[in-house]
Amino acid sequence: MFEIRLYNTKTRTKERFEPIDPDNVRMYVCGPTVYDRAHLGNARPVVVFDVLFRLLRQVYGEDHVTYVRNFTDVDDKINARAAEMKAAGDARPLEKIIHSLTDETIAWYHADMDALGALRPTKEPRATEWIGAMIEMIEDLIAKGHAYAKDGHVLFRVRSYKDYGKLSGRSVDDMIAGARVEVAPFKEDPMDFVLWKPSTDDLPGWESPWGRGRPGWHIECSAMSHELLGETFDIHGGGIDLQFPHHENEIAQSMCAHPEAGFARFWMHNEMLQVEGRKMSKSLGNFFTVRDLLEGNWSGGWKVPGEVIRFVYMSTHYSKPMDWTEEKAREVAATLRKWRTQTEGAAAGEPHIAVLEALADDLNTAGAVAELHQLSHAQDFSGLLASAQLLGLLTEELADWDWRPRVFDRTVHIKAHARVAANARVVSGDHIDQLVLELLRKRDEARQRKDYTFSDQIRDGLASAGVVVKDTPKGAEWELGPNFDPAKLEGLG
Ligand code: AMP
Ligand code: ZN
Repeated sequence: MFEIRLYNTKTRTKERFEPIDPDNVRMYVCGPTVYDRAHLGNARPVVVFDVLFRLLRQVYGEDHVTYVRNFTDVDDKINARAAEMKAAGDARPLEKIIHSLTDETIAWYHADMDALGALRPTKEPRATEWIGAMIEMIEDLIAKGHAYAKDGHVLFRVRSYKDYGKLSGRSVDDMIAGARVEVAPFKEDPMDFVLWKPSTDDLPGWESPWGRGRPGWHIECSAMSHELLGETFDIHGGGIDLQFPHHENEIAQSMCAHPEAGFARFWMHNEMLQVEGRKMSKSLGNFFTVRDLLEGNWSGGWKVPGEVIRFVYMSTHYSKPMDWTEEKAREVAATLRKWRTQTEGAAAGEPHIAVLEALADDLNTAGAVAELHQLSHAQDFSGLLASAQLLGLLTEELADWDWRPRVFDRTVHIKAHARVAANARVVSGDHIDQLVLELLRKRDEARQRKDYTFSDQIRDGLASAGVVVKDTPKGAEWELGPNFDPAKLEGLG
């Protein structure tokens, strides 16, 4: 059997991955809290675990992998955002605002992650649909002495679980010293965390043995993974920022509820996407959304195809911090243009074994990409296509961008240029050609009357719209560069 090795955060070693049941390989990944557009950092785990999902499907069969990623659609941050909307004039009751906010955010999330070529997980449970299972698990934890109810709250008794802190390698006392743990009158110990808390009448809430209330965040994942994957499953993933306290708390809850089962076998954590050395996050305000990039609303100013964003993630191993840079995006856009041109019309063969082996070595995506370059170089285009598609690149779904290089047709150009030089109206070519030729004609005129300020302005304008112009003795040659932006070009007219 083909061997996959994965770095397991739990044991801090790279281990051979053997599924509990090869007929049903099971993976749970913590999903987003839905109140806002996903930023570029939030998309990193999506792409990382999508590659793992694709690899597992390749090795164990498409129908033999169950991938669960939740939506946290009940949370204080959601309530706070809805309250802001109400304060800003939204007249609907708070619960209605929350409903439409979470529904809309989920639709955005789907659209944005689809644009990155991420397959939809097998199951995407919404926390609010599993409240009954959460209440049951909390009751079980109380019955087993691991939780207690006080003043409408239920708290997990952290000191009742001896292995608490093992995943992140901290002792409870270290954690108390280092973490911002909330001291509250209803807590036996400041480390204890909330399983259930009361809700006011205007906030979402469910009847429970402890009164009307809502679940804490951590119990959501323990209950949903249990319901959909069972007491034990193969892989649990998420960003490294979730390791403590979220995953530590999930482990404590699940291990205390089902002590024999062992919960998740492999824990995998992606490192952070950074901006100038700091984690990209909403609270630091140093973020841009996936949608911003797709639509060109970022400092680079050009629309970045989803395929390009996906490829940028793959050039860094998931366990390393990474930066988004425009340079990387340009580079991979050029590579994708080349590969798409090379493989156009090719039939996908089998993924190359070297690509599979790179991925099987703890998801070495950068190594897999290096193998793709080799295949391109060796002109094995059917191997390149199949191997790239294993990574979710060069797929039909992601083909919808302007990747075809403008092949400059010298004869057509010379004719066009002759017309330009002759100051004739340009009538041939499509709309973009006409716009570019018109600007080149104006530049020509400006040069002739030695108005170099104006001719430089046109040159800079074309450059900023992503039109690459090269002056040759025969006249100006041009093509649409990787950052070509038709809207900007229109703006120059
Ligand atoms: P949240 O909606 O904040 O709970 O985050 C959803 C997912 O995005 C979690 O798996 C986080 O670990 C992950 N995440 C958040 N910020 C970043 C970042 N800057 N880089 C990589 N992953 C992140
Ligand atoms: Zn979780």
